[in-house]
Amino acid sequence: MTQADLTVQKLRHTTKLRMLKVGRITELTPSMRRITLVGADLEGFHSASFDDHVKLFFPAEPGAELAMPTMGPNGLQFPEDAPRPIARDYTPRRYDPAAQELDIDFVLHHSGPATDWAMGASVGDSLGVGGPRGSFVIPTGFDWHALIGDETAMPAIGRRLEELPQGAQALVIVKTRDEASRMDFQSRCDLRIQWLVDDASDDGMDALERAARELVLPAGEGYVWAAGEYTPIQKVREHLVKERGLDKGRIRAASYWRREAPATHVNFE
Ligand SMILES: Cc1cc2nc3c(=O)[nH]c(=O)nc-3n(C[C@H](O)[C@H](O)[C@H](O)COP(=O)(O)OP(=O)(O)OC[C@H]3O[C@@H](n4cnc5c(N)ncnc54)[C@H](O)[C@@H]3O)c2cc1C
Repeated sequence: MTQADLTVQKLRHTTKLRMLKVGRITELTPSMRRITLVGADLEGFHSASFDDHVKLFFPAEPGAELAMPTMGPNGLQFPEDAPRPIARDYTPRRYDPAAQELDIDFVLHHSGPATDWAMGASVGDSLGVGGPRGSFVIPTGFDWHALIGDETAMPAIGRRLEELPQGAQALVIVKTRDEASRMDFQSRCDLRIQWLVDDASDDGMDALERAARELVLPAGEGYVWAAGEYTPIQKVREHLVKERGLDKGRIRAASYWRREAPATHVNFE
């Protein structure tokens, strides 16, 4: 293995905006709904990394017409005569270029424009999709891969596990609201998975942070990817980098949402 094989790559893509239709709806767990988006607009869609996100555009009000932006010379341009659509970030879970299908998996635990839309969606409904605008590509050639997150990270983790080659070692820690919300991940790699339940502990420490503190990192070259609610993910990263001395270049940790705040995306650095 050469060092070059382990260099993460940051790619930029030309942002494309698409209008797609709901083609299929699949209940994955009581709290996760897969919406399969279809349409000729998917032509040329490309997602280079499990860490990617697309921007989903929802009508400003439920039932209102979706006023999609266009790409201008300085970025997105919104129609001036209509209320701006609401945008939220989601993982492109699976893209099938032959069938022209894009799967997005929605967590349904709360209320917000994206979740409400997914809960009420029907086949034939329209959805605006932008991006991915860029990709953070983590090589698959590491000796081990730690993947840590809550339910919002499950689409990315599920995709990564399908993409990792045979022989790769994956240590997965996922926190779900309850046992019924766990999923069967498909993978060829050597997979060790630890399921946690979102429970309040006496010491106030989040289950994800506690598990990260107890995690024994294998020998060899590895990479940690973590995503989920702001505070536990920040604490997981702090513990691994500041207390355990993990190289900052060997961890990608992102807030995918934040309690009491809409649409929060932060890459901790
Ligand atoms: C890069 C990236 C990829 C993501 N991929 C996915 C994905 O594939 N699937 C997925 O389901 N989510 C994913 N998310 C998270 C998703 O974007 C947020 O959960 C988003 O806030 C949901 O939008 P909303 O309109 O439903 O709620 P918002 O209007 O954003 O928030 C409304 C309220 O709900 C709370 N809230 C938001 N999300 C949750 C949650 N998951 N559980 C409990 N309370 C919540 C907020 O704190 C707020 O109080 C991703 C986020 C990022 C940044």
